[in-house]
Amino acid sequence: MDFSLSSEQKALADSVARFARSELNHDVQSRDRDGRFPHDLWLKCGELGLLGLPVDASHGGSGLDALSTCIALEALGRGCRDSGLNFSICAHLLACVVPVWKHGSEQLKAKYLRQLCSGKLIAVNAMTEAHTGSDPFSMLSRAVPENGGFRINGTKTFSTNGPIADVAVFYAMTDRDKGYHGGVTSFLVDRHEHGFACGQKFAKMGLRTSPICELVFDDVWVPAANVIGHVGGGAGIFTESMEWERICLVACHLGVMQRLLEAAVGYARERRQGGQIIGKHQAVANRIANMKVRLEASRLLVYQAANKLGKKRSVGMDAAITKLFVSEALVETAQDALRTFGGYGFMEEYDVERAVRDAMGSVLYSGTSDLQRNIVASWLGL
Ligand SMILES: Cc1cc2nc3c(=O)[nH]c(=O)nc-3n(C[C@H](O)[C@H](O)[C@H](O)COP(=O)(O)OP(=O)(O)OC[C@H]3O[C@@H](n4cnc5c(N)ncnc54)[C@H](O)[C@@H]3O)c2cc1C
Repeated sequence: MDFSLSSEQKALADSVARFARSELNHDVQSRDRDGRFPHDLWLKCGELGLLGLPVDASHGGSGLDALSTCIALEALGRGCRDSGLNFSICAHLLACVVPVWKHGSEQLKAKYLRQLCSGKLIAVNAMTEAHTGSDPFSMLSRAVPENGGFRINGTKTFSTNGPIADVAVFYAMTDRDKGYHGGVTSFLVDRHEHGFACGQKFAKMGLRTSPICELVFDDVWVPAANVIGHVGGGAGIFTESMEWERICLVACHLGVMQRLLEAAVGYARERRQGGQIIGKHQAVANRIANMKVRLEASRLLVYQAANKLGKKRSVGMDAAITKLFVSEALVETAQDALRTFGGYGFMEEYDVERAVRDAMGSVLYSGTSDLQRNIVASWLGL
């Protein structure tokens, strides 16, 4: 399989990385310290088309295929040092915009999709509940038909973009007996609906510029037109959105790993200890070689999985393998970068301590590494 980039893909990667470096990096440290979401930069990303990368142009998107979407996100990760912003973009795009684009009615798309792609509207994926993280389909949230729509109740947690969101992609049980197989429905819920509120906000270890909170849906009435797909089709929609997220979100990590590798090589060529540059100490050089090997293996996995996304009926196993490998690779690579920088790596003024904090979330969100292993095992018939 040949994954050499076309001239269009190279131009796309260059323009996104250039934009990210020049527009998104001022103030990253203080933003991170204050946990401040950069709304102005979010809108700039929308203007560039990053918030609607795979969506067709007729709905306000950039019309890219999945592989080109990953190439753009890789360039974003490489150029933008604010991984919290990148994470908010990916959560919005992959877990919210993609389901509306792929499954929303024409009426729903006409109402919301263009504004979601421009960034005028911010979306949150509301699936996880306090007691159902790795087992999301045991959810307590429910929706009951009423007056041509649905009355929904439930409390979701760890909702990325929750505090700033205008709309939520909300999953609820509409038929508990059917459960996963036809009992879950996906709704697009407008922030202005009565009973929709932000609950507890969380302070996080990393990705601090990406706000996260609990969301309370207390007797919220949602019109039937806001069902995404069909009633009972929510499990498939969620599963598909996680396939997109597991493949395309980690494309951002490729860019981060590339950036960390370049920083480590640069530092190892300059920093001297014991009469020579530290890169001449084999322990340091080997650690950096491992960073390179992980990056190359990760890139192949992402490109291969992205190449299948949207073409093969199910890419569940590819998505799980990719998410598992690349997120673990990101954590190890960030730690290796920190070790290469020695004590300086521990200090805030270098980006690497933040990279370590930001990386840790990746082995948890979109399903933990344990869960990805479970998915792979189940595809193997275990
Ligand atoms: C930064 C961040 C952003 C997030 N954003 C969102 C969001 O936007 N929307 C949303 O809905 N959710 C979001 N989440 C929630 C995320 O999807 C869950 O945290 C994750 O699925 C794990 O669930 P849990 O936290 O309840 O852990 P648990 O499920 O309680 O897991 C605890 C531990 O047990 C292990 N474990 C659990 N079940 C099994 C099993 N069957 N086999 C083996 N090991 C198991 C886990 O791997 C883990 O080590 C986010 C989480 C984080 C950290």
